[in-house]
Amino acid sequence: MIGAFHQRFGPTPQPRVFRAPGRVNLIGEHTDYNLGFVLPVALDLATYIAAAPSPDGKLRIYSEDRQQLREFDASSLGAAEPTHEWTDYPVGVARELVRAGVPVAGANLLIRSTVPDGAGLSSSAALEVSSALALLAGREFDPLELAKLCQRAERNFVGMPCGIMDQYISVFGRAHSAVEIDCRNFGHRLVNLPGGITFIAVNTMVKHALSGSAYRDRVRECAAAVEGIATVFPDVRSLRDVSPEQFAGVASRLPEVVARRARHVVTEDARVNRFVEASTLGDVAGMGKLMLESHRSLQHDYEVSCAELDFLVDAALALDGVYGSRMTGGGFGGCTVTLLRSDAAASFRAGVARAYHQQYGVTPRIYSCEPSEGAGEVKKLETIPSLA
Ligand code: ADP
Ligand code: MG
Repeated sequence: MIGAFHQRFGPTPQPRVFRAPGRVNLIGEHTDYNLGFVLPVALDLATYIAAAPSPDGKLRIYSEDRQQLREFDASSLGAAEPTHEWTDYPVGVARELVRAGVPVAGANLLIRSTVPDGAGLSSSAALEVSSALALLAGREFDPLELAKLCQRAERNFVGMPCGIMDQYISVFGRAHSAVEIDCRNFGHRLVNLPGGITFIAVNTMVKHALSGSAYRDRVRECAAAVEGIATVFPDVRSLRDVSPEQFAGVASRLPEVVARRARHVVTEDARVNRFVEASTLGDVAGMGKLMLESHRSLQHDYEVSCAELDFLVDAALALDGVYGSRMTGGGFGGCTVTLLRSDAAASFRAGVARAYHQQYGVTPRIYSCEPSEGAGEVKKLETIPSLA
């Protein structure tokens, strides 16, 4: 990667390399922007940025993935406007840094990523967080503030009203652990996963055009649910504040669709907590059952699944060693995540690929979900993946 950087930007100076991981969310979907609970793990798949100062006051960003070089005046980043291109992610981060009082000087950035983009494994947050570290270039910044700043870039600049999960886990991920995040108070705890099991993500290889607009619709529907519920329980500020019992008492007062959306969120929050408990007790069957309940709730109540995701979940359940499976990420395509016995992983990969190919004529990409460390500077340069 250092070689690629020099080839593009010249022999000096030597760049530093920063890494931020993608993630797979084990359970707790569409709960983060409702200020509830999520349980992601940071992945070995990550976005790497090689960065060095540039004396001419330009911010140059090259994406190997897009094979595009874009150039901006560093001095005007505080007033940057979105262009609806991939550069909105790093430029949005730069603008937020300037607005937070952190000067951003000219720099050359080269981006390499192993996170598939648009697949629900959060390539966007991996790009935001790695960009933030590259632009900070080693300057201290509070990690939680960093995650929040990257979320603001996505919300305010990219225009996606996302919750905090993706940026948070990219910053706070930990090897060998899942991370339960409380999206209201921004605290987290590390969750041990039982031995002998593994999580595998399977990519439908589709992203339906609906995904962005439907996400915004769901955010609005949840706000409508809160408004309705608050007429009965005035203390309720978000769906996080609503217990399953309270919800049962008010559901019939909400419009039917709004009630189903809210039911998903309220029951999903409870499932995260039950999943953490099951994981701590080593109750793998219980974990699997909760994942499937989560999927059915996303499929029928929240309506963010799609035929390809439903197919992969059902195909997984028919295979040996599988405890549970669900869509992961925003939905309408992207990946499923499946919990299974480690020793069944090879036959699972073969079986699920065969079934999906038979149905759709497409070979799904499959990723093992080894919990990895959160973002930081890469000191061992030999760990950077070479270009695929
Ligand atoms: P997800 O976060 O699930 O991967 P998003 O739609 O939120 O999907 O983010 C994907 C977008 O992030 C891409 O369309 C692109 O604009 C940007 N992106 C991610 N990785 C890269 C990369 N390596 N180079 C350029 N743009 C990228
Ligand atoms: Mg994203």
